[in-house]
Amino acid sequence: MRVLNLFNTESRTKETVISAGSDNKIYMYTCGPTVYNYAHIGNFRTYVFEDLLRRTLKFFGFNVVQAMNLTDVDDKTIKGAIENQLTLSAFTKPYIDAFFEDLATLNIEKVEHYPAATDYIPEMIAIIQKLLKEGIAYEGEGGSIYYAISKFPSYGRLSHLHLNELKTGASNRVAADEYDKESVADFVLWKIYDPLRDGDIYWESPFGKGRPGWHIECSAMAMKLLGQTIDIHVGGVDNMFPHHENEIAQSEAYSCRQFARLWLHAEHLLVDHKKMSKSLGNFYTLRDLLKRGYTGAEVRYLLLQTHYRTQLNFTLQGLDASRATLERFKSFIMRLFGIEDLNVYEETAPLIEKAKNNFKSALADDLNISPALAALFDLIREVNILCDEKKIGKEEALAVLHFLEECDHVLGVLPLKEEAIVIPQPLIDALERRENARKDKNWKEADACRDLIQAGGYVIEDTPNGSRLKKI
Ligand SMILES: [Zn+2]
Repeated sequence: MRVLNLFNTESRTKETVISAGSDNKIYMYTCGPTVYNYAHIGNFRTYVFEDLLRRTLKFFGFNVVQAMNLTDVDDKTIKGAIENQLTLSAFTKPYIDAFFEDLATLNIEKVEHYPAATDYIPEMIAIIQKLLKEGIAYEGEGGSIYYAISKFPSYGRLSHLHLNELKTGASNRVAADEYDKESVADFVLWKIYDPLRDGDIYWESPFGKGRPGWHIECSAMAMKLLGQTIDIHVGGVDNMFPHHENEIAQSEAYSCRQFARLWLHAEHLLVDHKKMSKSLGNFYTLRDLLKRGYTGAEVRYLLLQTHYRTQLNFTLQGLDASRATLERFKSFIMRLFGIEDLNVYEETAPLIEKAKNNFKSALADDLNISPALAALFDLIREVNILCDEKKIGKEEALAVLHFLEECDHVLGVLPLKEEAIVIPQPLIDALERRENARKDKNWKEADACRDLIQAGGYVIEDTPNGSRLKKI
C-alpha cells in the first residue's frame, strides 16, 4: 500500500500520515471564516485546498473527522453588528448562509463539524481559568486577561521565531484580534466589556463581563470536538503567525500535550501578480465571478491546479483556460459514452493502470497536483488515439469512465454527470435500490425496481463496473 506524505510546517519536512488509533481516523481542524462579510477567492483557495486534502485522505483509506469553525464573534463582527444596529447573530447569519452556499457552488464536501464560536464560550472560559491558575495568563489594565508568551518556552516554534531574540512581556501587549505580523506580543484571551465599543454584546465570566479573544476560539473548539491532540491542523499561511502560534501556546499550556501532529499551510493567492485589495480593484468574491458567467467548477479547477505551497496567480484568463480544460474533459467523456463497439482490444487496461499509478503517487507526494492532472491528460491523449484507430470497445470505454470517476472523488470537478442530467432521478434511485436489494438477495425488491425502470423507458445494463441505465 502506498503511503501519503505531507509537508509539516513545524518540522519543515515531509512526514507520513498515520492514524493514531486503530480505526484509521484522522482528526483534522481547519480555521474557518470570520462571518462579517462574503469570503473572497483568497479564502477559497485555502478552503478548496483543504477539501482536496480531505478527499485525498479518504482516497488513501482514512476516515476523516474534520471541524471548521465559524468565527461569529470578534472585533469585526461586533463592529458590523453595531454599525447595522443588529444583534450579533442577526448580523452574522446571512454571511454564514452565504458561506455554505459558496462551499456548495465549489463542490466542497460538507465536513463533520461547523462549530460557531458563540456556542463554545463556557469551554473558552474554562481554559482561561486554568491558564490563570497556572500563572500563564494574567490580568492586564482594565481587567482584560492576557497570555504571557514568555511562560511558554517553545512559543514561535511553528513559524521558527526565536523568542529570546524578541522583545516580549507586558510592555508588549495587544488586545486586537489580529495584529502586526512583525511584532510578537502577549495576546488577549478575554476582552473586558466596553459599552462604547461593544454595545450590548458581552458574556458573563469569572473575570467580569466581556468576550473571548479570537485565538482562544480555535483551541477550545478543536480540543472539545477532536481531542487534545489532533492529527492535522490546516490554515492559510497568513494565519501561521500569530494565530496558529497562539493556538499551540494556549492548547498545550492547558492540556500539557502536543496540540497538532501535522501543520499544513496554503500559500497566498495573488490577482494579476498583486496582493488582492479593494483599492486596487482586483478584489473578487466567488459571487463576483459567478456574475461574470463563470461556474463553480471553473473556479474550483483554477484554485485546485496550483500546488498549495506555491503562490497562486489568479487571472480571468486563467479562468478561461480552466473552462477550456473542463470542456476538453467533457468532450472526451461524451466520446467514451458514445462507444458501442462490443469487441475487446486489450489496449486500454495498461493505459488506465499507468494513469492510476501516476495519479496516486503524485498525490502521495504532498498532494503534488500537477503530475496528478498530467496523468489524466496523458490518458486522454492516449485513449483519444485508440478511439481514432477504433481500438477501444464499449467495456473498455466504461472502464476509463470508471477510473475518471474514482479520480473525481479526489478532484470533485470533472463533468461526469451528463447521464444523470438526462435520466430521471427516480429511475437512478431505483437502480441504486436494485443494487442494494441484489446484494441482500432480496430478489422480489430487485425485480420491482427493474420493472419500475422499464416502465420509465430504460433498461439496466450490467457491466463489470456496476450497472447503468440505457434508454429503450
Ligand atoms: Zn484558527
